[in-house]
Amino acid sequence: MTYPDTPLFIGGQWRDAASGKSIAVFNPADGQQIGRVAQAGLADLDAALAAAQQGFEAWRELPAIERAATMRRAAALLRERSESIAALITQEQGKPLAEARFEVGAAAEITEWFADEGMRVYGRIVPSRDANVQQLVLKSPVGVVAAFTPWNFPVGQVVLKLAAALAAGCSILLKAPEETPASPAELIRAFADAGVPAGVVGLVYGDPAQISSYLIPHPIVRKVTFTGSTAVGKQLAGLAGQHMKRATMELGGHAPVIIAEDADIAVAIEAAATAKFRNAGQTCISPTRFLVHDSLHQQFVAGLVDWAESLQLGNGIDPATQMGPLANARRVSAIDALVADAVQKGAKLLTGGKRIGGAGNFYAPTVLDDVPLDARAFNEEPFGPVALVRRFSDLEDAIDEANRLDYGLAAYAFTRSAKTVHVLSQRVETGMLWLNQPMTPSAELPFGGVKSSGYGTEGGPEAVEAYLNTRAISVTHV
Ligand code: NAD
Repeated sequence: MTYPDTPLFIGGQWRDAASGKSIAVFNPADGQQIGRVAQAGLADLDAALAAAQQGFEAWRELPAIERAATMRRAAALLRERSESIAALITQEQGKPLAEARFEVGAAAEITEWFADEGMRVYGRIVPSRDANVQQLVLKSPVGVVAAFTPWNFPVGQVVLKLAAALAAGCSILLKAPEETPASPAELIRAFADAGVPAGVVGLVYGDPAQISSYLIPHPIVRKVTFTGSTAVGKQLAGLAGQHMKRATMELGGHAPVIIAEDADIAVAIEAAATAKFRNAGQTCISPTRFLVHDSLHQQFVAGLVDWAESLQLGNGIDPATQMGPLANARRVSAIDALVADAVQKGAKLLTGGKRIGGAGNFYAPTVLDDVPLDARAFNEEPFGPVALVRRFSDLEDAIDEANRLDYGLAAYAFTRSAKTVHVLSQRVETGMLWLNQPMTPSAELPFGGVKSSGYGTEGGPEAVEAYLNTRAISVTHV
């Protein structure tokens, strides 16, 4: 299976870094080097910024209906190329091919939804206090966007930013992940081939800290959007604040799962386990803290362990594989350390808890029970295939635990009670709450967190609003 070297995309041209430097890319399933990605330096960034400014000036002038048509062509190309792009995702990131195909299909859908949403960017006319005066509210694209995305959904994390920014009439300069560079480049290629003018979309890779510290303060950049860890998000948000740049921060989570006394236990096991082990748990909305009512605890834990033990691990390219390797060796050591710490503090290891195989970053699906509150894993985002279980007897205690951490991205609950649904909807401090189901993010629903999980949203009309300035115009007719 072929895997390309990935160049930069600047001013409508695919090219190597001016310095000729590049970074090696590895397949997490076997640790083999599969390619290289160009490493941008400051000269490349300057060229990309100038192109993005020109691209913005061209793109914002196009009628929304023409921008939408171009975006729809890009979506069609993504669908046509789905198989080859999915294979790249699997080779560089590790997830099973079926999940990679789903990611590309979702990218096409997201592009189409935002293409149409861009045609619904309305201003308004506000009644004035004087018959001779007309007051208007106008929405204008904010300008050049600098976007930073991580390796867990190499295509999915980019498209949310790309599609919303383009729908609003902005240009976007993307720093995509160096560890998974080829599939985001194919996403960008679909937009270029669809006819997006030169400079509207730019793509660079390199040293993340060097690139963000250059782009964010740069006067050409008017908006910053980042997806990644809370620690890095706080640094980038601080820099954006110093330079008064608009910012959207989609950061880490530590999703509680409340399994109430009246839950449908079969639904809870299937939905929670599906969500937990998707992408080997490397998902910001992955369920992590399973809070189970005493009366269902034994049944739930037994079901979760069976599920974890039945998962077929392997190279994601093999159609039989249900869970691939972790995306990089850092995650394996991080997960191993979190599990060891929990066990040392008294958690019961019910299954997993170990690396698998000599080559590749495989880690067994893991279930830990009766995890003490002071275990690191119960406080730090695990970002791996580890389910952490605790029991409760009073729903109030489960809500307190759900809200204990400073994260507030996703939460899950299982209950048949309308009252419990209402209470949880009101009280759980989270950007997204999924009830009696696994995660189902979609373009039309807001996607984002509260508290240290960030601010802004990447779905729904609010996602386009994040790339718009709102301006007031008042005219006295003379
Ligand atoms: P990390 O925190 O160093 O990097 C996370 C992402 O941010 C990477 O894509 C990286 O390239 C980027 N990054 C790091 N420093 C940056 C900087 N100064 N400027 C711009 N971008 C920067 O660590 P990691 O090992 O890649 O991931 C570890 C943790 O990150 C995970 O445990 C998880 O908590 C979090 N993470 C979250 C998401 C998400 O979807 N929210 C995705 C990937 C990683």
